Amino acid sequence: MRSVHLYFYNIWQALSTIAIGMKVTFSHLFTPAVTVQYPDVRLKLPERARNRLYVNIDDCIGCDQCSLACPVDCISIETIKATADQDLGVTSTGQKKRLHVPRFDIDIAKCCYCGLCVYPCPTECIMMTDVYEFSEFDRHNLIYNFSRMVPADVEEAKEKLKKADEEAAAKKAAAAAAAAAAKAAAPPPPAAGSTPSPEPPKPENPTQS
Ligand code: SF4
Ligand code: SF4
Repeated sequence: MRSVHLYFYNIWQALSTIAIGMKVTFSHLFTPAVTVQYPDVRLKLPERARNRLYVNIDDCIGCDQCSLACPVDCISIETIKATADQDLGVTSTGQKKRLHVPRFDIDIAKCCYCGLCVYPCPTECIMMTDVYEFSEFDRHNLIYNFSRMVPADVEEAKEKLKKADEEAAAKKAAAAAAAAAAKAAAPPPPAAGSTPSPEPPKPENPTQS
């Protein structure tokens, strides 16, 4: 008798559970959908959404402000000083460019999209874009290289700077040597404690004779 009772109890349990589930399903049949059929349909991103970074390298002055602001050190910048005879031009915001930027890498795999690198940029050339689909199979492909200098350009810039530094050092050494020579040729100052030379005699007043 007990097993018959359990049998009908299980049937009741199964039917009532299905009924509860179907009640939830039917209640959602007539409400508007909140999902979209991605990737065929895409939601419009908010205006200030933070996604993939982009650097307009033509406007970068190599000041390193963005790298210093980054909390996870995912921006790597190297610069080479331009020599006096090189004109690197100006940015679109009017700043004169004085540094070559042979390396500007962002490891986007480390980036936490905080946006702290964007605000200190004096030329507004590093920015968040609305691109959010950039997955890769190889994580090395997530290191973005923004510099456009090829190795030959980098070598040339380094050589020019080295030559200019050597010329400046040679000029400085020559100036120091000339100053030392001039100092050596000057008459020596009177030794401390020596008797000062007597004052020349004053001419007698002709009216007293
Ligand atoms: S968004 Fe934040 S974490 Fe990403 S590069 Fe900029 S400062 Fe670094
Ligand atoms: S703050 Fe701007 S100008 Fe300075 S190095 Fe970064 S991207 Fe270039």
